[in-house]
Amino acid sequence: MFLPRRFIEVSARLSSLPGIGPKAADRLVFYLLDQSDEDVLALAEALLAAKREVMFCRRCGNFAQGDLCEVCRDSSRDTKLLCVVEEIRDLSAIERTGAFRGLYHVLHGRIDPIARIGPSELRLDRLLERITLDGVREVIVATNPNFNGDITAMYIAKLLAASGVRVTRIATGIPKGSDLEFADVFTLTQALEKRTDVQS
Ligand SMILES: [Zn+2]
Repeated sequence: MFLPRRFIEVSARLSSLPGIGPKAADRLVFYLLDQSDEDVLALAEALLAAKREVMFCRRCGNFAQGDLCEVCRDSSRDTKLLCVVEEIRDLSAIERTGAFRGLYHVLHGRIDPIARIGPSELRLDRLLERITLDGVREVIVATNPNFNGDITAMYIAKLLAASGVRVTRIATGIPKGSDLEFADVFTLTQALEKRTDVQS
């Protein structure tokens, strides 16, 4: 082994992160060791502060610093329009389009019969509560266009049937079986605009 133990330690930690292989990890360590003490410390402190201070929004489940996230704090948003997504990364994908001006509800998962994830493990009680309390007019279900996403959408439509709220599903301009987060801005904007009513 030609590299010092400290180097290997940092590289091993970085390569355990998603999307970073051993070579990329080594390159990052080379780069970091070349920076000033202040810069490396600033990075470490920013990481730790984010880890300690970033939590989930009490209302929608997005990342937040404090009680409510940036989206929920934005008073120009249409609070009667909710977009239900599986994960925060899907919320980010939709935010990137700039085409949606309502609020979100993050499930932090999807119904998955094989992994034995049922509706009780999603944040559906909170969704019902929000619909009643906030007088929501429409719920756009933007779960992924695959088997689990589709059954989750059907379940939500059934759950909300009695509430009288309009339930729509994003159009399937996104290739079947793929993930929202990888859809380009145009496709995703179209999918939102061409949403259709879900029959429950
Ligand atoms: Zn929020």
